Amino acid sequence: MDCLFCKIVNGDIPAHVLFEDGDVIAFEDIMPQAPSHFLVIPRRHISTLNDLTDADANVVGKLQITAAKVAKQKGIADSGYRVVMNCNEAGGQTVYHIHMHVLGGRAMTWPPG
Ligand code: AMP
Ligand code: ZN
Repeated sequence: MDCLFCKIVNGDIPAHVLFEDGDVIAFEDIMPQAPSHFLVIPRRHISTLNDLTDADANVVGKLQITAAKVAKQKGIADSGYRVVMNCNEAGGQTVYHIHMHVLGGRAMTWPPG
């Protein structure tokens, strides 16, 4: 599978891993858009949010729970953070293996650009 994030899951390319278990991995974003910016991905390849089925409810819940857990670990939970999942081109998705962005350490603006 020629997928960047599957390569991180398989250990074929390095990542600064913050948390991992049997279902998900959290690692630092290589081009951080905030003082704290990490990604949470499922180990299993799912290309876009549109590909989710009812059977994936557990893994999607796990992404959010892990985001909150790692946000606490990184000390951004109390000040606040933003969680973003981009879907397809207009949504700004560039890596087609679903991932949750978690951004914190600065004030976020709304609406996003
Ligand atoms: P998106 O545009 O929502 O698909 O987000 C993809 C994210 O992956 C971007 O924020 C990139 O900076 C990040 N990214 C790309 N390659 C790597 C990598 N090798 N390690 C960590 N993050 C990466
Ligand atoms: Zn993948």
